[in-house]
Amino acid sequence: MALVDSVPFSFQIMFFVLGCCFGSFYNVVIYRVPRSESIVSPGSRCPGCGGSIASYDNIPILSFLMLGGKCRRCGTSISFRYPAVEILTGLFAFLLFRRYGLHPQILIEFVFLSLLLIIAMIDFDTFLIPDVLSLPGIVLGFAFSFFTPRLTWSDSLVGILAGGGSLYLIATLYALLRKKEGMGGGDIKLLGMIGAFIGWQGVVFTVFLASVTGMIIALPMMLRGGKGFGSEIPFGPFLSFGAACYVFWGQIAWHWYVSQVLGL
Ligand SMILES: [Zn+2]
Repeated sequence: MALVDSVPFSFQIMFFVLGCCFGSFYNVVIYRVPRSESIVSPGSRCPGCGGSIASYDNIPILSFLMLGGKCRRCGTSISFRYPAVEILTGLFAFLLFRRYGLHPQILIEFVFLSLLLIIAMIDFDTFLIPDVLSLPGIVLGFAFSFFTPRLTWSDSLVGILAGGGSLYLIATLYALLRKKEGMGGGDIKLLGMIGAFIGWQGVVFTVFLASVTGMIIALPMMLRGGKGFGSEIPFGPFLSFGAACYVFWGQIAWHWYVSQVLGL
């Protein structure tokens, strides 16, 4: 963290603000991609009345606060998720800058975290992970592996195969046992993308953390719902959460595991 301590804090905050602006765009992507709408035009519209949102009402976080979370025109309340996505994206940019400064690695991990966030939200809303995000993500992750010191291209390639392959195996077994599809093909491609960006080590970490958090959060819901173990809960948000944790803490956890648990 010492790397950027010489940079004025105001300059560091600029990365947070910039990240929030990206997050504002991600909200548009999250809303429109599942509806097969253009993400470029028209400009932002209120989901309630369809009225276009003026640029002065479209400032990340601030507009939400000033309008009290309501559309200026029709008063439809705007989900807290919009500023939450903006703040989260801002934090990603801020923390990555704190870690890397203006190193290209910041771009790679920002792209990765952005894809994870967008995919998690879309999967949460629609139970679908669009191929238009995960498949280019696999290609990007593999391409980036040639430019990052944290991963070799072979780790990335094995990661794609391990990610896509292992989940494909689980899904096939599950389908055989339960005679119905449990995990979607979207999850398989998402884990392939995760493998492309963080390698097979990241895939192991991600699947472990996603399964544990998935159990902790989903099990009480399933029990209370009384629908048994078969009720549908999207797995993408858990995979995204696990992979994002790996970006920030994975290498620390991995080294701890290798030295303390495996004793290597
Ligand atoms: Zn409105």
